[in-house]
Amino acid sequence: MLIDEHNRVHDYLRISLTDHCNLRCFYCMPEEDYAFMPNQQLMQTHELIALAKIFVDQGVKKIRLTGGEPLVRKDAANIIQALGQLNIQLTMTTNATRIHLFIDVLKSAGIRSINISLDTLQREKFLMLTRRDQFDQVRSNIDLLLQHQFAVKINMVVVKGMNDHEILDFIAWTKHHPIQIRFIEFMPFDGNQWKSDKLVTLQEMLQIIQTQYAISAGEREPNDTSKPYHIEGHLGSFAVISTMSAPFCSTCNRIRLTADGKIKNCLFSASETDLLTPMRNGFDVLPFIKASIAAKHPALGGQFSNDLEKINTNELHNRSMIAIGG
Ligand code: SAM
Ligand code: SF4
Repeated sequence: MLIDEHNRVHDYLRISLTDHCNLRCFYCMPEEDYAFMPNQQLMQTHELIALAKIFVDQGVKKIRLTGGEPLVRKDAANIIQALGQLNIQLTMTTNATRIHLFIDVLKSAGIRSINISLDTLQREKFLMLTRRDQFDQVRSNIDLLLQHQFAVKINMVVVKGMNDHEILDFIAWTKHHPIQIRFIEFMPFDGNQWKSDKLVTLQEMLQIIQTQYAISAGEREPNDTSKPYHIEGHLGSFAVISTMSAPFCSTCNRIRLTADGKIKNCLFSASETDLLTPMRNGFDVLPFIKASIAAKHPALGGQFSNDLEKINTNELHNRSMIAIGG
């Protein structure tokens, strides 16, 4: 088992398939020109599967594929199928632009639940936020997933002045659709224009929702990073991921493997542990994995506290989100 010094068992691995993406969400990609990783720097399919198996042997029970956009990787279908053979819960976070090309692969690999990123319900605003005209494709792919009985969660990163006025529209969507909206507090990463005054906190989101709805708190799963809520008469539900104002570090069970084969023991960790190079050189990588888990900070990568005013994004040492794998 992969246990750290704070007795947290790590049984959930998030693998980034690529740092490439077909959208350009401003909060995820750095402002300056971003150079995507060259292919030879990425884990090749057999390397990625071999590393995943090592984690599964160490007790990992759930793997989430992410990126960049996981479904732009050319061999994504092969990877999904191979990981589907492991005895784990396989899932994915995607921008949904390419779901229609993968629906059969996702089903045959045993994926039952998918998280989709969608920050606005307005076509024009989608174009502005992502710099790509893919709103209709994303919306129809969400419907496609629901038709095929996938459990669908919608990730909405809430940014003040940008889409916070759409919170109630997203809630209205849950009335007749069995989806869960996950409102995510805007997080600081390398070059992503984060400022504390752009953050909409858990409490602020709840206040907005409570202007129109009576809400009740749901039961939280032991390692869940989101706080779930219900509204009577709604088929769907909502949850808030309050990483900034009320982090969940004490129950964290997550490890991240970047597309270039490095472990990040926390989303906000400044350091990384390379697994791909030692593996290519014939070394046993398990000691590297264990050392990385052992060195995990108690909270927020040891880089900041939830005293939000004090966060200076220029002082954070981290990759941009697109290169980490959210
Ligand atoms: N391309 C896929 C997608 O968009 O779902 C997967 C990768 S994306 C990096 C994973 C998740 O990270 C998305 O839900 C995205 O909204 C979220 N994310 C990216 N940057 C973020 C930020 N600065 N704060 C909060 N969430 C962020
Ligand atoms: Fe691409 Fe997802 Fe990042 Fe948007 S959030 S730029 S879709 S990786």
